[in-house]
Amino acid sequence: MEKIKMLNAIAELDGDEMTHVLWGMIKDELILPFVALNSEYYDLSIQSRDKTEDAVTVKAAEAIKRLHVGVKCATITPNLQRQEEYHLKKLWKSPNATIRAMLDGTVFRTPILISKVKPVVSCWKKPITIARHAYGDIYKAVEYRVPGPGKAELVFTDEKGHETSRQTVYDFKGPGVLQAMHNRDDSIISFARCCFTYALNVKQDVWFSSKDTISKDYDQTFKLLFQKVFDEEFRSQFEAAGLHYRYALIDDVAAKVIRSEGGMIWACKNYDGDVMSDLIAAASGSLPMMTSVLVSPDGNFEYEAAHGTVVDHYHKWREGKPVSTNPLATIAAWAGALHKRGELDGNEDLMHFADCLSKAGVDVFEAGYLSEDLARLCDPAELREMPENGRLLHLIRERLEALLSA
Ligand code: NAP
Ligand code: MG
Repeated sequence: MEKIKMLNAIAELDGDEMTHVLWGMIKDELILPFVALNSEYYDLSIQSRDKTEDAVTVKAAEAIKRLHVGVKCATITPNLQRQEEYHLKKLWKSPNATIRAMLDGTVFRTPILISKVKPVVSCWKKPITIARHAYGDIYKAVEYRVPGPGKAELVFTDEKGHETSRQTVYDFKGPGVLQAMHNRDDSIISFARCCFTYALNVKQDVWFSSKDTISKDYDQTFKLLFQKVFDEEFRSQFEAAGLHYRYALIDDVAAKVIRSEGGMIWACKNYDGDVMSDLIAAASGSLPMMTSVLVSPDGNFEYEAAHGTVVDHYHKWREGKPVSTNPLATIAAWAGALHKRGELDGNEDLMHFADCLSKAGVDVFEAGYLSEDLARLCDPAELREMPENGRLLHLIRERLEALLSA
């Protein structure tokens, strides 16, 4: 079979540990035999980031901006233990944080559902997508451990040096904690645009939640800006597509989502999205089955699996023991990136290949060949085999070949 050609390149961001091993296997078995892969390769392994003083991460993010599409493997975010383990010069920043800051994007997370693994919430029929604002709030907060009695104030000085606001936060009589956080109108507006654009793309409703009854300036601003973007830029397109936008308090939405059948985009502020995406993933079946795409307001897309480097599997693999890691979210990331490249280039063959690629993985799982994490969750009568990584990818390749020649 002739390999599918790619007009333009994608940025390929390789990573660490077990997911790095899987990355190579996925390419060898599922991509390179079928596609004349056109990618700009960036090695984001912890060793390469350490060697380049993290310049490689910045180069990779720039490549995503230039090429508009990237696919990323899971990477280590170093802590003190990792610094010792890998003899690092420094505790390098999370690559995801660097990339998100450079792309100013919104992260959309959607679980992959398999009929053999029933969601914990029995009324969920369709996947729920969490759209997480990836800028500001506690992730860019300034904090202070208050040592003892004293007054904490919030002061704003305008660019001409005039103090325009001063409020007492608290009069401390003893030790405590203090935090100041911020967000920007332009970032909130692009968050709203990303959510509505993505919703039109996948034809789903948007639910946005915050706590504007308590946070009368901060969360209220989010609510008003979302409504403004919707009314001015998206209302008519939503009406034409039969889609809806609704705002509600976060506790109200949390309760409604549990009673829904799913199939909507739940837009969340940064911290809410961090928590809710893990909750939705676990309740949908399993953490490793979560896909993730970072969408920037100017139309750049970075696809990845939401899980980490699966370090415990890596240690077993290095000891030569068989491991059964779930590859579906990483395969979905490749499929997502290739599909988007196909859409942008008008490359039907590439889009068709990407569809077959994600279907092949799901089909193999549906047939009862499940990686260990899901094998544990399904009815034993429905489990045919729990294949180790090499065999699992081989099964997926066979299915992919069948789908492509159909
Ligand atoms: P993790 O790698 O996601 O693994 C946590 C646990 O989830 C694993 O021990 C495993 O459970 C299960 N799991 C995750 N992915 C799986 C898969 N594909 N197949 C089967 N089981 C899977 O998270 P972590 O252990 O907290 O973090 C490890 C490293 O990854 C850290 O250095 C962290 O910085 C990094 N990380 C990177 C990203 C990213 O790049 N996006 C995200 C999160 C974490 P069992 O032990 O029960 O098998
Ligand atoms: Mg989280």
